[in-house]
Amino acid sequence: MDVLYRQYPTLFKNKRTCWTCNQHEETNESLWLCPVHLEILRPHIVQFVQNLKTDIRQTCDYGDSFLESELNNNSIFQFFLQPRGNLPLPTTDSSFYLTVRQIITHDFSYIFRGKYKHKKTTRNKILSNFYELTQLIKRIIWKPRNDTFKKWKVAQRITKNSYKQYRRKTNKTRPDTDHTSQNWNEDPTTCHYFSYT
Ligand SMILES: [Zn+2]
Repeated sequence: MDVLYRQYPTLFKNKRTCWTCNQHEETNESLWLCPVHLEILRPHIVQFVQNLKTDIRQTCDYGDSFLESELNNNSIFQFFLQPRGNLPLPTTDSSFYLTVRQIITHDFSYIFRGKYKHKKTTRNKILSNFYELTQLIKRIIWKPRNDTFKKWKVAQRITKNSYKQYRRKTNKTRPDTDHTSQNWNEDPTTCHYFSYT
């Protein structure tokens, strides 16, 4: 939202805050760390860890005696597995956030180390589960937010054309075009060139 606002300030005036909780500015970082989003995500992560545990138990070649505690104490999942309010919210430094941003951390790959005979199996397990986890987070957080945003745009009659129109109008700063001459010296982003019609 911060990027859209910078590009189209008039279009998204008054719509810079989180689309879910309205309590903070929406940025590429805060979208994934919004306290309400994290609570929506909580039961899904709990289920993911449960499925992961079952899968490793069924497929591993070596002992899984520490699996339960390894998963419970894993810094990616810990926040979601503990009762609400027990742990501070994840930040941009947390393994959870790095996971969201598509980085396979040591915390994630460590879960699979020493469980499988073949390196290839370990690698495949890491990749497939990582993909599943990141898709899950994206689906739960990004999709509902995007649907709300789309509905709002429809209500405001903002279409792809509006962006084009906005760019065309804010770029029209040549003095020979009739209606821009009075705004010639103004910063284009402060002019109300855009109209919904
Ligand atoms: Zn929020």
